[in-house]
Amino acid sequence: MPTPYDKMWNELNLDLAAHEGLLQVLGKFYGDIYLTQEGRLKGMEYLDFVLSEVHGLRIKELQEAKAQGKKVIGTFCVFVPEELSLAADAIQVGLCAGAEIGKEAAEKVLPRNTCALIKSFVGFKIARLCPYIESCDLVVGETTCDGKKKAYEIFADYAPVYVMEIPQMKQACDRDLWKAEIMRFKAELERVTGNTITAARLKEAIKLVNARRAVLQRLNRLRAVAPAPISGRDALLINQISFYDDPVRFTQKIGELCDELEQKIKAGQGVAPAATPRLMLSGCPMAVPNWKLPFVVESSGAVIVGEESCIGARNTRDLVDESGDTLEAMLEAIALRYMRIDCACFTPNTERLEHIVDMARDLKADGVIHYGLSFCQPYAIEAFKVEKALTAAGIPMLSIETDYSMEDVEQLKTRVEAFVEMLHLG
Ligand code: SF4
Ligand code: SF4
Repeated sequence: MPTPYDKMWNELNLDLAAHEGLLQVLGKFYGDIYLTQEGRLKGMEYLDFVLSEVHGLRIKELQEAKAQGKKVIGTFCVFVPEELSLAADAIQVGLCAGAEIGKEAAEKVLPRNTCALIKSFVGFKIARLCPYIESCDLVVGETTCDGKKKAYEIFADYAPVYVMEIPQMKQACDRDLWKAEIMRFKAELERVTGNTITAARLKEAIKLVNARRAVLQRLNRLRAVAPAPISGRDALLINQISFYDDPVRFTQKIGELCDELEQKIKAGQGVAPAATPRLMLSGCPMAVPNWKLPFVVESSGAVIVGEESCIGARNTRDLVDESGDTLEAMLEAIALRYMRIDCACFTPNTERLEHIVDMARDLKADGVIHYGLSFCQPYAIEAFKVEKALTAAGIPMLSIETDYSMEDVEQLKTRVEAFVEMLHLG
């Protein structure tokens, strides 16, 4: 069916027929998983609208910004400091990588036993399905897990790629390496954009990104209330959209949604009865439109109250210290903040275990579901230690490994229902 965006998508060199197929699947999936929920917040209308225009209006905005001379920087990991991109007057977007549709194209260049997230971003590029990737002037990769690190070498044949080296430990020499990487990234952004990152611009960017994190922290805190005032599906969507929406508009809209949540809480209204088991998700990021597990959990008699994930609390927990005024002090504060990220790619990674237990307690979670993408070794192996830490804290955990296909939905449902039943009995 023709749309007002066909010309733009054509100019972006998308495979229009395959792209139409993607939008249809996305629309159907969204309708089934999101629009069937009852008693949703009024504030979710904004998110519904943004998602319905995910490849339309927002891409148009990016194209308009590019026409004014702005550059678009794409990322796949929360380690890439958005503050620097904004200070270089660029727009940074998280490239989603949460759909299976480019899998066939990806498996032509990647081993089949590669995690779904990596296959998704490579497949989207090769199959020409993603208008965000096609809008990017630079795609920033990172040396986190081996799969991503090596996949960027292949991706670089198709797009302009720049890779940041992320240390694997958190000792003094690793911090020095990371600080040097921040400086190298700053120089690369200045080269790509032609703009100089000044102290004044960086200060403004730090405040902007902190404000978005702060509003998401507020949302997370409100989810600690019983009965849960918002579904896990809706909260995940908010976190997902935070990666590509305009940061000022997003922060304002989520602030309004939090005001509405507070009213609901005052009135004692929840999305599920107070006795509904409260579950927290922990593990690999769930990129748009990966809503499978939240849907399974929330149609199995439980409600999700938090996500210990990069599309969740791992990305919003820490703010950059705003007290520095010199460029040097601000770059140092940025380096320190990002080194606090507790990705499973680090060793040792004990702070993640502490964060999970604290978060589960703060959110009054009855149990945790550890989510690993199939073939993701860092998170699958770390799940053992997570379970040990949670067991010691008296919090039950269910470990799930899956990918983006819908084939195992019934099997997952059976396992999640048994876990929820056990929580009821306990
Ligand atoms: S899980 Fe690790 S590699 Fe993946 S987005 Fe988060 S920090 Fe980056
Ligand atoms: S989910 Fe795991 S294997 Fe996949 S990109 Fe992230 S860290 Fe790497």
